[in-house]
Amino acid sequence: MTNTPLDDPNILRRSDFLLPKGTIYMDGNSLGPSSLASNKATQDVLNNQWEQDLIKSWNVHSWIDLPKKVGSKIAPILGAAPDQVIACDSISVNLFKLLSAGLKINDERKIIVSEQKNFPTDLYIAQGLSELLGKDKCELKQVEKHEIEDALNDEVAILMLTHVDFRTGEMLSMERITKLAHQHGVLVLWDLAHSAGAVPLELDRWNVDFAVGCGYKYLNGGPGSPAFMYVSKRHLRHLKQPLTGWMGHASPFSFEPEYSPAEGIEKALCGTPPILSFAALDGALNAFEGLDMMQVRAQSNSLKLHFLATVTEILQTNPDLKLVTPEDEERQGSQLSFSHPHSYAIAQALIDKQIIVDFRAPDILRLGFTPLYLSHAEVEKAAKTLRNIVQDGSYLNAKYQTRNKVT
Ligand SMILES: *Cc1c(COP(=O)(O)O)cnc(C)c1O
Repeated sequence: MTNTPLDDPNILRRSDFLLPKGTIYMDGNSLGPSSLASNKATQDVLNNQWEQDLIKSWNVHSWIDLPKKVGSKIAPILGAAPDQVIACDSISVNLFKLLSAGLKINDERKIIVSEQKNFPTDLYIAQGLSELLGKDKCELKQVEKHEIEDALNDEVAILMLTHVDFRTGEMLSMERITKLAHQHGVLVLWDLAHSAGAVPLELDRWNVDFAVGCGYKYLNGGPGSPAFMYVSKRHLRHLKQPLTGWMGHASPFSFEPEYSPAEGIEKALCGTPPILSFAALDGALNAFEGLDMMQVRAQSNSLKLHFLATVTEILQTNPDLKLVTPEDEERQGSQLSFSHPHSYAIAQALIDKQIIVDFRAPDILRLGFTPLYLSHAEVEKAAKTLRNIVQDGSYLNAKYQTRNKVT
């Protein structure tokens, strides 16, 4: 039996998070937990700013600056200079803006290449855009992961990929693929939903063109939290996005009849920002201030490794349970995924024991390894519980079989 490794006190800050007692939370890859700072920031908007200062708050509490302010708090987590990141809308909406903008930049080309198994919303948005612009202006080509590199040529306008696969937890080499795409004049748009706040990123250094990401997963901004987008400095000045709402105008409160975009990343905005959600995300991001993402990564890897060491035995003896995440640490994000014919029921049985994990169709059990609030001891307990559930077949109990609307 392996010893339980020590937690890194610089990274583990469990008491900053508001997790129910006894809960082992391994679903931060789907919805990050609440935190003291996030709770306080939201209460402050509700109980002081909105209640007391009403509409004055747009100025006195700088509500109007929140998309930019929150964007610049996210920037260092992405390895980006502050003026290239803004928080707004959802990933889906931001993808629409950036795919349109990318097609305008690469206007001799019409093909968007993406991966068949990409998160569906990414594909749906590209399909919708193709429908809107017409197939002669925009065409989505979906390929398998191993076909991505061969699909790059001088007819492709944009390569749109998710950095860490939401099902398998496989991480692609952003630096290498971006470089390769650029050799063919292809712009690259990365979806960082399962990367931002989980793994070290160097968007500026890797010459990434565009990126989008999620506020409510590893950044812990709360349900429906604003997403973010990144635009490289070299594209910012010429960037044209189609959702030309007033908040992206150079001077929204001049109320001019003609649209004229703001100079900087603010031009990516559309309508009024949801201030309560912004407050929650703003507070949550305090946890990342001064945090070394390399150390976060090292701790997350250590948690995954300890989990795997604890379940090795059942992986060897129970052929139904398979690790679908690559074993090579370099190719892993911050989650481990297993397949099993009864994954859904196994997830329910774990949740019943206060070990919160999730399931993705058709047969994937996902576990997130977030070292800010997860200890090695908890991960070990989760692994032992999984081992017992798989061995004793308790997941077959009828109460674990009914599917909820959200899985
Ligand atoms: C969670 C997730 C999204 C969510 O998109 P929204 O439009 O913000 O709901 C998008 N892409 C990936 C890869 C995701 O994991």
